Amino acid sequence: MSQPAPTDRFQPFPGAALNRCGLNRQHVFNLADLPPAVIATLGDTAPFRQLILIGHGGKALWECVKTAGNVGADPIDEYSVGAIERCFAEHLPGNRYRIVFPGEQPIALQQLGKLAGWHHATPFMVGIDPEWGSWYAYRAVVLADTHFCPFLAVDRNRPCDSCQTRPCVSACPAGAMNDGGFALEKCIAYRKRGDSSCQHTCLARTACPVGSEHRYDDEQMRHAYSISLAMIRQHF
Ligand code: SF4
Ligand code: SF4
Repeated sequence: MSQPAPTDRFQPFPGAALNRCGLNRQHVFNLADLPPAVIATLGDTAPFRQLILIGHGGKALWECVKTAGNVGADPIDEYSVGAIERCFAEHLPGNRYRIVFPGEQPIALQQLGKLAGWHHATPFMVGIDPEWGSWYAYRAVVLADTHFCPFLAVDRNRPCDSCQTRPCVSACPAGAMNDGGFALEKCIAYRKRGDSSCQHTCLARTACPVGSEHRYDDEQMRHAYSISLAMIRQHF
């Protein structure tokens, strides 16, 4: 996170409180600085001034979720929303806010991730950065009438540009990246098979060495990939 030093003009950002909840990636944008295409996905932004992109990197969030004992359909979303609500209540009681993700409307998460410097595309289309590898995710987008100092984008390289052997490509049992691009239909068809090795994981993702110390444990992988498999079965 590249948060500038606070000045008297700005209110302090409660990053430490969010970090303690496992929501350890944060980026503050002024709404006025965002591209119209991103703004268009947010719905009515009045009376808000800023957008706070919140994510997690690594295993800390999952440990927090397990400790909290959330049991809803998506315990990570449930936990994350609760943690953000507590953070505003305890540290920002005078500010209005609205959580637009998780929610019903589709939000341009990867575009926000690119603007924050978090997202570089892998061959298998998940985001990557040199610190976390692909082991991070977007957890919330919050509109707020806050006066935080807007963050500068993190400036990190795309690891894939210097990856000579590209083990993710050869690890994919569906050959979804064999033709240079990403053949989503091959990935989906393979994941739906009864004998698929990718029902609860992505072998391409686990083959990538970047940020491997942050790789999710088996339980978190099963949770994340069960949700995506259910969506595949519902829509394809
Ligand atoms: S294995 Fe190499 S090409 Fe594949 S995602 Fe990792 S860094 Fe990128
Ligand atoms: S989930 Fe499996 S089939 Fe899909 S890209 Fe990853 S390794 Fe390939």
